[in-house]
Amino acid sequence: MISYSAVSTVKGRATDLKTVPGPILLLGAPGVGKGTQAKELVKLWGIPQISTGDLLRANVAQGTPLGCTAKEIMARGELVPDSLVEEMAEHRLQQPDTANGYILDGFPRTLGQAEWLDGRLASEALPLVAVSIQVDYNQLLRRITGRRNCPACQAIYNVYVNPPKQDGFCDVDGAALVQRTDDTEEVFRERMRAYEALTAPVVEHYRAQGRFAEVNGDRPIGEIAAGIVAAVEQLRR
Ligand code: AMP
Repeated sequence: MISYSAVSTVKGRATDLKTVPGPILLLGAPGVGKGTQAKELVKLWGIPQISTGDLLRANVAQGTPLGCTAKEIMARGELVPDSLVEEMAEHRLQQPDTANGYILDGFPRTLGQAEWLDGRLASEALPLVAVSIQVDYNQLLRRITGRRNCPACQAIYNVYVNPPKQDGFCDVDGAALVQRTDDTEEVFRERMRAYEALTAPVVEHYRAQGRFAEVNGDRPIGEIAAGIVAAVEQLRR
């Protein structure tokens, strides 16, 4: 195995993975904090976050054929067809920055996508480890409706639990924060329906495979990150 020598800290806690992080999958309902946690792990391990939601939003913003198909589906809170998301994921996974691992955020979201990914990973040196983040429904609703994003640096805030220093503006670069069009209560309910029907079975799929852990996501960001790091270290042993 390739050695991974960097020693980093999550809120003062030393973490020292003996191997490269490899493929890591963050699972959990919309709003559990997968994106926020993925960014913490990117800082810690220097591997990329692969968020199919971010990739799709970039396609929508650029007006690509995929973006034009995905736009309305996403606005309704439904899922984009597997074949389109898999093609997009394949393209991203082929980039050289994925060599030491990557953090999957929001993919796979259906059993079909999970089977596609399992087939794709079968030939890789390190198996996937999956961490499911748990947060209860009412908290999720608060997080989704309170979420604000920086369009410049992609930082994520929450007006209730993690507000910016100046209301409406990013702490990092001062850009005006925006709210995702699907972060409304109505679309959240549809996204939760899609999650329960199509993505909850993906969690069971990875639980049954082993190399799976659950962490409590109803804590400060640094504590959750430390919980995920500890789970990954344990699963990689
Ligand atoms: P997210 O940013 O992960 O919450 O994703 C936003 C929206 O993008 C979802 O509500 C879906 O419409 C779409 N999307 C993201 N990832 C996937 C995926 N793996 N499969 C299907 N649709 C997806």
